[in-house]
Amino acid sequence: MHQTPNIAENLSLIQQKISDYATKYGRPASEIQLLAVSKTKSAKLITLAYEAGQKAFAENYLQEALDKIQQLAPLDICWHFIGSIQSNKTQDIASHFDWVHSVDRFKIARRLSDQRPADRGPLNICLQLNINHEESKSGIDLDELADLASRIRSLPNIKLRGLMAIPAQAESFTEQRRNFKSLHDALTRLNQQGHALDTLSMGMSNDMEAAIAEGATIVRIGTAIFGAREAKTS
Ligand SMILES: *Cc1c(COP(=O)(O)O)cnc(C)c1O
Repeated sequence: MHQTPNIAENLSLIQQKISDYATKYGRPASEIQLLAVSKTKSAKLITLAYEAGQKAFAENYLQEALDKIQQLAPLDICWHFIGSIQSNKTQDIASHFDWVHSVDRFKIARRLSDQRPADRGPLNICLQLNINHEESKSGIDLDELADLASRIRSLPNIKLRGLMAIPAQAESFTEQRRNFKSLHDALTRLNQQGHALDTLSMGMSNDMEAAIAEGATIVRIGTAIFGAREAKTS
């Protein structure tokens, strides 16, 4: 059987690392938000993290996420969706989340905007880039980015905040940094084209330092908080 991880201790270790890396790379730690990735983890474990002060959680699988959002409704949690999005699922995503990091098609963005409940304010979104051109991963290519971003700008109920990527497994720290730098450069170009984006969602348990070195503003951490995940069975 699995032991319950010491979530409060893990969170405080990661916060310490975030602040150490921020110092090391000359950035204010306040600019880097820890997003706890709770996919496959129980509402009970999420509650433990919440009680330790963590308020932002991310989920990949919609049905599982909706169950937990309902169970945890009394808590003041900011929910982020980071999984792949089928167009028949946009209604639930638009209704129950505060952020979506994995938008990679105009059609999905338009549906999220159309279906966003008026009383929830604009939905924050990031565009997902596939920076290593991997067949197995979602996300758009760099050369499609400017066009998608400018079309999305006209949608009233979503707010384009920035970019997200899950780079390929890198051989070295240098290569990790190179991947994240290409995301940062893409954000800079969009801002030069008149966007006002402030979010780079990049860095997971194994590459957080490289992501912070290259300007991450949201790091998405699962394993280092909650322990290893069991294979998903559904
Ligand atoms: C699972 C997942 C994470 C967290 O990964 P860890 O290696 O467990 O920290 C981050 N981002 C996305 C998109 C994920 O699917």
